[in-house]
Amino acid sequence: MFAKIKKSLSRTREGVFSKINRLVTAKRKIDDDLLDELEELLIAGDVGVDTSLHVLENIRTRVKKEKYQDSVELNSLIIDEVKQLLDFEALALPLSKPCVILVVGVNGTGKTTSIAKLTHYYKNLGKSVLLAAADTFRAAAIEQLATWGERLNTDVIKHNANADPAAVVFDACTAAVTRASDVLIIDTAGRLHTKVNLMNELEKIYRVIQRQIPDGPHETILVLDAGNGQNAVTQAREFMKSAKINSIFLSKLDGTAKGGVVLGIKRELNVPVRYVGIGEKLEDMEIFNPQEFVEGLFAKE
Ligand code: GDP
Ligand code: MG
Repeated sequence: MFAKIKKSLSRTREGVFSKINRLVTAKRKIDDDLLDELEELLIAGDVGVDTSLHVLENIRTRVKKEKYQDSVELNSLIIDEVKQLLDFEALALPLSKPCVILVVGVNGTGKTTSIAKLTHYYKNLGKSVLLAAADTFRAAAIEQLATWGERLNTDVIKHNANADPAAVVFDACTAAVTRASDVLIIDTAGRLHTKVNLMNELEKIYRVIQRQIPDGPHETILVLDAGNGQNAVTQAREFMKSAKINSIFLSKLDGTAKGGVVLGIKRELNVPVRYVGIGEKLEDMEIFNPQEFVEGLFAKE
């Protein structure tokens, strides 16, 4: 498991975090220049300006108070501070039945693929899963989910293209209740360019779910593409105006140098990264593990 996460972080590591490693292993005196360099590296690593300043403020305070002298001693200090950014409770498995998971995000970020991965994950835990193709904007989007459904041997509730997404959600909720499915996962369209529409559509979907499953949705997952770096954080802020996001699925962590974006997300959005996508296959998903993530980020080779 750890090897997979570590591998997916290789470009992020090469981009910036290896430079941090080099900075702290070069055995220099800790001075303002060195700490400024560290701050710049974090910002360049898509950690976010606010979060980078916050980390450096803590490090400066501790360097003074705990009388750190040379850069080698900084290594554990940095790792410690970074771990604190990711300090949140582990994911609890859904108890409600059906557990409704609504998946939102901009087109192309990886919603449908991530839903397939989540389905695979829950099925491996012995849960029955039902899928709802509520991204009715393009026929191809419906077909894509239907194809995954076939591969996963999972039913997909779908209507024709351009049907009302809320109607698909209504039928899916009815089916999930009737069949006593463990988990219902709803795919949605990500039309951010019409913010009012997005907001109205999501509100309507929430209403339709709650009519049949009053405590649903139990989780609203926002899918963000790690390759968008800090822009993903901006995107998240837009979505948070229209949906009650509980968790983030950070897709495409493999192949990007911008994986440092994970570090600022909890602090800047107050929503934890719960899942990471590390490839295009069903198995290429990990439940986010802060400890492994930080170790992968600062791994020496
Ligand atoms: P949607 O429009 O948000 O539903 O996005 P899709 O699920 O259709 O994904 C868009 C593209 O991103 C597809 O080519 C996926 O194979 C790819 N993709 C999704 N997740 C990952 C990931 O974790 N890693 C990589 N490398 N590609 C991914
Ligand atoms: Mg899709």
